[in-house]
Amino acid sequence: MLNNELPAILGGKPIFNSFVPIIEPTLPTIEEIKLKIQDILKTRMITNHKYVQNLEKSLKEYFGVKNVIGISNCTTGLLLLGKCLNFQGEVITPSFSFSATSLALAWLNVKPIFVDIDIKKFTIDPDKITEKITSKTSAILATHIFGNPCKIKELSEIAEDYKLKLIFDSAHGAGSIYRGKKISNFGDGESFSMSPTKVLTAGEGGLITTNNDLLAEQVRIGRNYANPGDYNTSFIGFSGRMAEFSAILALKSLEHLDENVTNRQELVKVYKKILSELPGLSFQQIEADSRSSYKDFAIVINDKEFEITRDVLYEALNAENIMTRKYFSPAIHQQDAFRLYLKGQDLDLENTENLAQKILCLPIYSHMKSSKVEKICDAIKRIYLHRSELR
Ligand SMILES: *Cc1c(COP(=O)(O)O)cnc(C)c1O
Repeated sequence: MLNNELPAILGGKPIFNSFVPIIEPTLPTIEEIKLKIQDILKTRMITNHKYVQNLEKSLKEYFGVKNVIGISNCTTGLLLLGKCLNFQGEVITPSFSFSATSLALAWLNVKPIFVDIDIKKFTIDPDKITEKITSKTSAILATHIFGNPCKIKELSEIAEDYKLKLIFDSAHGAGSIYRGKKISNFGDGESFSMSPTKVLTAGEGGLITTNNDLLAEQVRIGRNYANPGDYNTSFIGFSGRMAEFSAILALKSLEHLDENVTNRQELVKVYKKILSELPGLSFQQIEADSRSSYKDFAIVINDKEFEITRDVLYEALNAENIMTRKYFSPAIHQQDAFRLYLKGQDLDLENTENLAQKILCLPIYSHMKSSKVEKICDAIKRIYLHRSELR
């Protein structure tokens, strides 16, 4: 039986003959997009035109939000939102996120103020925010980690009470639902990514969503050098448009978004059912009335109980030809580029640092079969059974 064989890291044969990537973009066939590609080649309208407009319209319906603006990527979207909402001084944000969340703040010349996360949900902990608010605070930028909606109600209340802007890094949020409402409808605005690793993909691309018409108008102008139409640049914008080719990919990806997110729920169920049999492994908590897109599926390894550290499990799975990722390790405040922002900050980020040390994201993608998940779990079991030889 499989489980009696030696793990590859101890000299056994790898469970997979070829490498299993942590994520694969789900893409259309050439037949599915051929006519549209021919259309843009024929009309020579290759950026920010018909298909971007179609995508914006389709997404408005899908999300149930008043405005969707197609842009070149999510980082651009965060910059545009921050610029148009006049971010200044300090902005409250999680350190447990992808670097781009804070990179955007740095480009806006504001100081990221790092707040710890809820250890079960992995998203920013609203209870730890108010103590960080000063006279310099202008906004909150929160991330729906791996697609798990933030504690949005609590965040919105704080933003309202302290008159702060609230935006979301919703790079992982397409297909996520918070208490019956699609992610895209919250805060002053949200910014989505459609890069290749995201559930809704355009190759490269992003989206801003907002129910504020005035803000929508500003970001529409901002993505186009802030040229309102007469070349009299109205503020410091930049080039942030979406290409038509990207919009064609995204339109196809959108057609399958709900079906893909549903498949991911099934894959996660299989992962959780099998891995729950092992001691010391736990999972991100999603509220019962919300839905995660499961852009990523993470396990948290308590090495006292599992008796294997995260880093050893990472190496052992790599030897089995299974690619995993230590998202988000190092956390943002632990990265070199952000060192200069740490001065004067209380870095009470215990949950963030703990999670960054224990987390491992396993392969998940929309067209993945549950048999592959089962095989990955077999690999983890096999490694676990030989844990005493691994140390
Ligand atoms: C991928 C990602 C981004 C960056 O998205 P781009 O579209 O590449 O700019 C930002 N934030 C998070 C949390 C991400 O995962």
